[in-house]
Amino acid sequence: MFRSLHMKLVLVLVLLIVSVMAVVGTFLINSVAGYNIESFREEMLRVFTQEFILTLEKGAAGDDPVPALREVLEAYSGSLGIDQYRCFYILDGATGEYLAGSDDSLAQNLTLTSNILTAMNGEVGQDVERLSPYFDVAVPIRGPQGLYIVGVMDDKTELNDLSWQLFSILIRSMLFGLLVAILLSFLLSKTITTPVERLTAQASAIAAGDFSRKAEVYASDEIGILTQTFNEMAQVLETTLNEIEGERNKLNTLFLHMADGVVAFDRSGHILHQNPAAEKMLGKPLDSGKTYAEVFPNLHIDDSDIVENGRYIEIDYSANKRILKIFFAPFGGDEDGGLIAVLHDITEQQKMESSRREFVANVSHELRTPLTNIRGYTETLIDAHGDIDDETEIKFLTVVHNEADRMTHIVKDLLTLSQLDYERIQMNASEVSLRALAQGAVEAMSMEASRQQVTLRCDLPEDLPKVTGDRERIEQVIVNIISNAIKYNRPHGSVTLTGGTEDGKVFLRVSDTGIGVPEEDLPRLFERFYRVDKARSRERGGTGLGLAIAKEIIEYHGGTIRFESVYGEGSVVTITLPLTDGGGKKHA
Ligand code: ADP
Repeated sequence: MFRSLHMKLVLVLVLLIVSVMAVVGTFLINSVAGYNIESFREEMLRVFTQEFILTLEKGAAGDDPVPALREVLEAYSGSLGIDQYRCFYILDGATGEYLAGSDDSLAQNLTLTSNILTAMNGEVGQDVERLSPYFDVAVPIRGPQGLYIVGVMDDKTELNDLSWQLFSILIRSMLFGLLVAILLSFLLSKTITTPVERLTAQASAIAAGDFSRKAEVYASDEIGILTQTFNEMAQVLETTLNEIEGERNKLNTLFLHMADGVVAFDRSGHILHQNPAAEKMLGKPLDSGKTYAEVFPNLHIDDSDIVENGRYIEIDYSANKRILKIFFAPFGGDEDGGLIAVLHDITEQQKMESSRREFVANVSHELRTPLTNIRGYTETLIDAHGDIDDETEIKFLTVVHNEADRMTHIVKDLLTLSQLDYERIQMNASEVSLRALAQGAVEAMSMEASRQQVTLRCDLPEDLPKVTGDRERIEQVIVNIISNAIKYNRPHGSVTLTGGTEDGKVFLRVSDTGIGVPEEDLPRLFERFYRVDKARSRERGGTGLGLAIAKEIIEYHGGTIRFESVYGEGSVVTITLPLTDGGGKKHA
């Protein structure tokens, strides 16, 4: 109940009023009591002068001292303030017996006060004690017949009445003060608690994520400043949260779409987070809670060592027919830390690396064979100089010439490929008629075809649309394909060129009735230096680079090249190129 600020304020004010009133009341009542005692004492001192005492002693010296003393005292009763609450008395100094007085009831209930006892001892008893139920003064009067005690006693009724009145006034004013205090405190607490309640409501709304609410600023006092500062803080908080949210979204998107896989484990080795790339690379679902050993079976590294000692480990790992490079690193602090694994797929990189090595080995091998031949024949020519007949010499020199030619051929092809790789090749784009190019190539190859006893046929439609591209390069491709179709044909075989349009592209098809290519070799035909029958290729002057170059050139023009074959029956090579109107070059 007293937890609310409201009630606390009321309580504080009530306590304040009660304590102030209590202090003031006690002080007042004490002061009144003190004043009364003082005035009683002064009054008595004023009356009980030496002269008055002499008068009393004179009375006591008479024959009938008690009536005489009573007479004197009655004469002074006005000055002594004798009334219904204050009385005078005359006692026997030896026994303390009541002899006479203004109130005869004292005869029965007179108490021998300390002042009376003092007076009985012959001295004036005038001590007035605040807490005693009466004020009194007792004076010893000596007479020839003995000692008499003359005294005045006030039963404090007047003072008590006054104190009681004062007390009741105080109680009433305190009650009134309390009422006013309660009202005021309600009003005061309302003015304080209402803005605080509004601030609390706004804080709750902010805690629930609603930043749209703003607390109204009604005053420029401390609470007003607090409200304004709170509004500003909410604004800054909203901006900061939005920025953090934006960053988090960016990171989330990055995390979801990054090419590298990421898997985070907690300290106990269970998955905390993972991204789709990691699942794809490892080829299995990575549900939260899976353990490190389930994610990377057969990968024996000390994961606790990485986390505890902050180590970084890089390791190659094979999974799902892929080669992965995994970086293990610790993250976070002692309590919430763990291990993060970043997976990098290096399968392609490794493949490229091995094909690069294979390529270098192939190039070396291809160049070494003609060089060995050249060296062998020239050495023989040098050694046998003069001993060799002209015919043999010419034969040898022809071999040297052919091998040099072959090397030139290889180097030229390699250069073309490298230029195509680095897109440094100069393409002279123009409108090209595939029909005209194909017919020209057929004509150029006709001699070779008849030498191989192969019939060349060109069945291209007259309206074969034109394409845009580099005439020489496209011609190079067509010549290479026709040349292959003749080279890998059989006597009395045929080569047929057909063409047309298909799916918005122009196609040119070279079909032969040659030896064909085994199915398992088909996917590798466009690789550099790949040859099905190495001996036959070499014998016919092939380098194994023709189809690789053809593919690069055709793809450079935005087209495709397809090789289909039935082993032992023949092959069909189809190239497609975009129509001049419908597309243009890939690298235009
Ligand atoms: P090459 O200079 O050896 O002819 P290519 O790249 O032009 O090199 O051809 C690669 C290989 O593809 C050839 O060695 C050959 O084995 C095979 N090949 C190409 N065209 C044909 C075809 N029309 N018929 C059968 N095999 C072919």
